[in-house]
Order: sequence, then C-alpha cells, then structure tokens
Amino acid sequence: MKPHYDIPNDLGAIKDRDILEGYSSDPLHVAMPDALVRPQSVEEVSRILSYCHSHGIPVTPCGNQTSLTAAAIADHGILMSSEKLESGWRIHEDPEQPGRWLAYVGAAANLAAFQDSIAAQGFFYPPDPTSREEILVGATVATNASGEDSFKYGSTRRWVRGLQYVRPDGEIRRVMRYADEKGSAHKNTCGYPFRESEVDLLIGCEGTLGVITEVIVEVLPFVPEFVSMFVFFENEGHALWAVGQMAERSSGELRCCEYMDRAALDILVQGADGFQCPETAEAALYLKLEFAGDCQGVLETWLDHLEGIFDHLQSAHLLDAVQAFTDAPAQRMLRHWRHLIPATINERAAQYRDYGGGKVGTDWYVPLNRLTEMFTRVRDDQDGADWVVFGHIGNGHPHFNFIAKDLREYQRDRELLFKHCQLAVELGGGVSGEHGLGKKKSQLLAMQYSERDIQEMVAIKRKYDPQHIMAPGNIFPDSLFK
Ligand SMILES: Cc1cc2nc3c(=O)[nH]c(=O)nc-3n(C[C@H](O)[C@H](O)[C@H](O)COP(=O)(O)OP(=O)(O)OC[C@H]3O[C@@H](n4cnc5c(N)ncnc54)[C@H](O)[C@@H]3O)c2cc1C
Repeated sequence: MKPHYDIPNDLGAIKDRDILEGYSSDPLHVAMPDALVRPQSVEEVSRILSYCHSHGIPVTPCGNQTSLTAAAIADHGILMSSEKLESGWRIHEDPEQPGRWLAYVGAAANLAAFQDSIAAQGFFYPPDPTSREEILVGATVATNASGEDSFKYGSTRRWVRGLQYVRPDGEIRRVMRYADEKGSAHKNTCGYPFRESEVDLLIGCEGTLGVITEVIVEVLPFVPEFVSMFVFFENEGHALWAVGQMAERSSGELRCCEYMDRAALDILVQGADGFQCPETAEAALYLKLEFAGDCQGVLETWLDHLEGIFDHLQSAHLLDAVQAFTDAPAQRMLRHWRHLIPATINERAAQYRDYGGGKVGTDWYVPLNRLTEMFTRVRDDQDGADWVVFGHIGNGHPHFNFIAKDLREYQRDRELLFKHCQLAVELGGGVSGEHGLGKKKSQLLAMQYSERDIQEMVAIKRKYDPQHIMAPGNIFPDSLFK
C-alpha cells in the first residue's frame, strides 16, 4: 500500500489534482505525487528539505520532466520542481586561470536559451542534448546530459567547474573543483563516479544527493563554425565500418557523428520537410565538421576521405548523394530533423501504453572497435522486435528504440534490453551513456558494478541522505535501503 505523508501546506505544497496531473508524467511514464512544491529561492529549497529530512518525507526533484526513465516523476511524497528557481546567468573570466571563462547559471535556465544567448556574445557551451530546447540547466547537470556533439566535446561532466546545491538536511553548499579535475569525455550515466570531488558526485546523481540550484560551467570564448553533412550507405555494416574510418581520419574537426538506420530515415522522409534520401540507402551518418575560416578546405578534405571510404566499400555512386549544409538556418533545420526521430518514436510508443506496450529504449555504449560485433549479436537476437536505431555512434552509443504494441511485446523487449546491456558490459562498455537509470533501469546497476562497488555507492548515499528522502527509486532499487 502507498505510504501516507502529512505534508503541511505552509511548505508551499500544492495538492490540487488538476495541477498535480500536469506534473505526473515524463514522455513515457505516469506517476502522481502526493504534493508539488515550486520553490523560488535556494533558501526556500533549504527550508522544505530541512522539514522533509526531519519528518522522513520523500522529495523527488525535477526540471522539465523530459527524463526517459521515470527519474523525474514520483508516485509518493513531494515532487520539487526547479522551474521557479533562478534562471539567469552571468559570465566572468576565471580568476584562477586568466583566459578561461566561467558561466554562473541558475538551475532553472533553459539550456537552449542560455546557449543561444551566450553565443550572441561570442561564447560557446558545448553540451548538446537533442532535447536542449526543453530542458533546464540544473537538470542537465543532475543527469550528466550529453548529445550529438559529444564525439568532440564529451558530456556535461567535462564542463562543470562547480555548483551550489542544497543537501537533503537543508544545508546550502557551494563547491568547486579545478579545471584539471574535470571529468573525461567518457560517457557514463550509471550510478556514482568513484571520485572524491563533491562536484563530481552531484553530476549525474539523478536527484539522489540534493537539489542543484546553480551551476558554474566553463564556456569557450569563441563559437566554432562547422559544416553539416548527411552521408548515405547501402547497409548498416558499411556505415559502421565508415565510423571507425572517420574517427581515425579526423584531426579534431569531426564534432558529431550520428547514426540513422532505415527506420529512422523513414521517420525523416515522412515528417521532415525537404529531407531527401536515396531509396536504396539502408543507413546514414550525420556529421558536423568544424573549421576555422576555411569552409572549402574542410569540405574538400572530407569529400576526399569519403571518396576513399566509398571506393573501399564499392559504393562510389553514393558520393553523389552526400549532402552538405553550411548556412545557419539549414543547420538549425538539421537539428530539428535529428530531434524529430526520438520525439516521433516517443509519440508512436505512447499510443500503445493502454495496451501494456510503449517504448523500451537502450542507452548502452561499447568501445568503437566492438560496435560491429555488438550490432551483429544484437541483430541475431532480434526475435521479431520492432525497433528504430539512431544516435551517437561516434561514441559507440547508438539507441535501439523498441516500440512494443502490447504487454507481451513490452516484456520481450525489456528482456532483450537486459541481454543487450549485459553484452555491452562484456564488450567493455556500459549500460547507460546518457539517460541514467532512473526508476525504470535501476536493476542495471548490478550489471555494471560489483556488489562491493554498489555498497560503496550506497554508503555515499547514506552519508549524504541518512533518511533516504531524496529521489527514492532513482539509480538504486529500493531493496538496497530496507
Ligand atoms: C526527445 C528526447 C530527446 C532526448 N535527447 C537526449 C540527449 O540527446 N541527451 C541526453 O543526455 N538526454 C536526452 N534526453 C533526456 C533528457 O532530456 C535529459 O536527461 C535532460 O537532461 C533532462 O532535463 P529536464 O529538465 O527535463 O529534467 P528532468 O527530466 O525533470 O529531471 C531529470 C533528472 O534530474 C533530476 N533533477 C532535475 N532537476 C534537478 C535539480 N535542480 N537538482 C537535482 N536533481 C535534479 C531529476 O530528479 C531527474 O532524476 C532526451 C529526452 C527526450 C524526450
């Protein structure tokens, strides 16, 4: 039975069902909290958490609830939205390292608004989730978000230098780390990192260690120009082989290398105005290539690379199908097209919810040199599953998005997801590269980490949150805290 909590109204708690309904779903799941709070200041967050800590009331923080793992919804306790917290930003030169620049950003800032506004001032903040127009900066840190440009720029962890957050007992803390402590470009959103830095622990903690109220991120004092390209292939194997070639041939200019299978291309053919694709293409890569001043130079170099690749694949005719886009409006359109793929899948899957179906999305990653083996083994096991494959192939991190039409298919697809994650770990990768575990994938933690590692993470969680009030169910199965 659902536990009952006395949540006093003077915490600012909203219990009106109509309002709660509006906060009771992410794109794939539904859960109704007992109450909603929308604090407007760090002091208010502190007051609420302090009360909940003393009274054992669960609190799940959320941003704009685009999480795909039920991490940002709660079926009991308080849902704490960060939407009304500070949403502004300011940029200063790093006093410790002249020539480097830091942005102080309120947790409620919209990521795209922040990025576009500082770009107009000549600054660049690289993390680039496809959902950037919908999400809050505090949440991108809580999820260690990454996106299409992670091939060159890594995930959010790499850019965070500090943050202000409120601990579960209400203590307000401001913590920093130095640039040389920055996390690597490596993608991993499974559990806590084994690092001492408090900043690192908060990054990707999925709301389990506190509420982030401000982030301090490094921004670059220039906005790189780039050319975007669509490159089509006769089949998946050709495209995967080409990824390795491109990674080898890039001297730093390859910023994004995204994969689309035929089903993903069909979504674009049907929904993206102006998208053109050879009928025989079974796969495509979407690339971004940076240049400084000489667009023609990078284009010529990469057309040479592609010629070599297509010669090897005996598909010289596909060189003529390569599409290059240089102007900003066209590149914005490509971003929109890229976003259309997961957004369409989420919509399609949602219509099967009432039948017990829905989307099952993989988020595993493997080293680049194991990609072909991984794809082959996953395909061998398809078992009639209906899926669309797209995503961050340059990081060894494609998404296989299953669409299950009913409960039977959903259960089969969940089993396949678990098998694939196990395989990814065996091949030297991990179970989650960017979406985290949330509540829907918390069983995967034990696939990637040993019992001892998990006990270490649980000890950290207990140290920060002895009452276990923060985001219960996220990352850790509840059984670990009984
Ligand atoms: C169509 C689509 C495409 C997507 N593409 C990408 C992608 O390319 N890359 C990627 O990484 N993700 C992607 N996502 C997932 C999602 O957008 C990201 O995880 C994003 O960072 C979540 O932001 P949000 O504001 O919606 O946060 P929410 O979903 O509300 O919250 C996410 C998590 O952060 C915690 N949280 C939120 N705010 C705070 C806070 N202030 N303090 C502490 N914890 C907090 C929540 O408890 C939850 O665990 C995609 C989602 C969709 C629907």
